[in-house]
Amino acid sequence: MKKVATIKELREVGRYAVGIQWSDGHDSIYPLQSLRRRCPCRSCLGAAKGVPGAQAQRLVQFCRLGEKGVFAAWADGHETLFTVAQLRALCGCALCTPEPERPLTQG
Ligand SMILES: [Zn+2]
Ligand SMILES: [Zn+2]
Repeated sequence: MKKVATIKELREVGRYAVGIQWSDGHDSIYPLQSLRRRCPCRSCLGAAKGVPGAQAQRLVQFCRLGEKGVFAAWADGHETLFTVAQLRALCGCALCTPEPERPLTQG
């Protein structure tokens, strides 16, 4: 049985990113711009093109919502509810993307 990772800690990473430390040792960094672009709400999915404006890339709140969710409030008034699974799927830490052992070029 595979153990589901849970969030150990949310943290700020400078002004333009947030980070999540996971119970199984993964350490994710999420640039705010790409987080905002991945907002799973209906209105964002309908208009997911272009670069979000400056206010849309600033967080005013980022907190856990129970065991399974993370709530983000943006400076432009938008609110996003991410599930833990969604955030975990976006993890790009070293454990998730091991260095290639050989060149990617294939003939
Ligand atoms: Zn949205
Ligand atoms: Zn990872």
